[in-house]
Amino acid sequence: MPGVQDRVALVTGAAQGIGAAIARRLAADGARVGVLDLTEPAARSVVNEITSAGGAALALSADVSERDQVQAAVDRLVGEYGALHILVNNAGVLRDNLLFKMSDDDWTTVMQVHLRGAFLCSQIAQKHMVEARYGRIVCMSSTSALGNRGQANYATAKAGLQGFTKTLAIELGPFGVTANAIAPGFIETAMTKATAERIGTTIDQMREQVASSIPVRRGGVPEDVANAVRFFAGEEAGYVTGQVIYVDGGRGLL
Ligand code: NAP
Repeated sequence: MPGVQDRVALVTGAAQGIGAAIARRLAADGARVGVLDLTEPAARSVVNEITSAGGAALALSADVSERDQVQAAVDRLVGEYGALHILVNNAGVLRDNLLFKMSDDDWTTVMQVHLRGAFLCSQIAQKHMVEARYGRIVCMSSTSALGNRGQANYATAKAGLQGFTKTLAIELGPFGVTANAIAPGFIETAMTKATAERIGTTIDQMREQVASSIPVRRGGVPEDVANAVRFFAGEEAGYVTGQVIYVDGGRGLL
């Protein structure tokens, strides 16, 4: 079975932005995709796009930080498609603030969605992968893992996801399951638009500023990340595990 053809994938936070692009890309390459987000109506528009293009997808709702909801969503996906081979831990939120102003809620919400969410989804999904002796887990980190002003919570979570991913690679490798992470730089989505507003600029100015300061001289788009996920998710990437790819236009080189 080459690539992701006929594999069953679950993409979290897939109603928009990077997650939606990943869901579309995996489906275009033949995977059957669970499009999971906080509400089913939000996920349904991506499912409709995929099915209109001839692909297979199922809208699922869950808060990734709630065990019962994640379990129910995975059970539904496996009930519908009979397996779970690929998990993309993509759901994320921002609660940016300088450390001295960051509330307990800002801290906890970010840890809950990124870290607890990836923990729960991976723990529940790996059961199916280990049983099948095949699996691909991809976690969404960020260049912010290296530190970013106003993001003590988010940077901590994104660095934590790299350690989490490497540990999954060690524990699950013997069962045919790989785990890798992607660390995007600036990718134009609702999340970056919100960041632009927070720091008092516009998304156009932000894109121009990023483009002028990085080697590839353009802002990133969700499809840039989806291409990297597609590599890790494919059968042919089976000897690659515990890795972090920075999809940042070379920003980290400077
Ligand atoms: P986005 O447009 O805000 O999409 C994130 C999606 O996750 C939203 O649909 C959101 O739903 C959903 N979500 C939030 N909390 C959830 C929860 N508890 N359970 C299930 N779904 C939840 O963000 P994005 O820019 O595509 O980012 C996707 C991932 O890439 C995130 O992990 C982000 O940290 C990471 N990333 C993004 C960039 C970038 O430049 N955009 C850079 C580095 C890393 P609601 O809209 O209803 O909240």
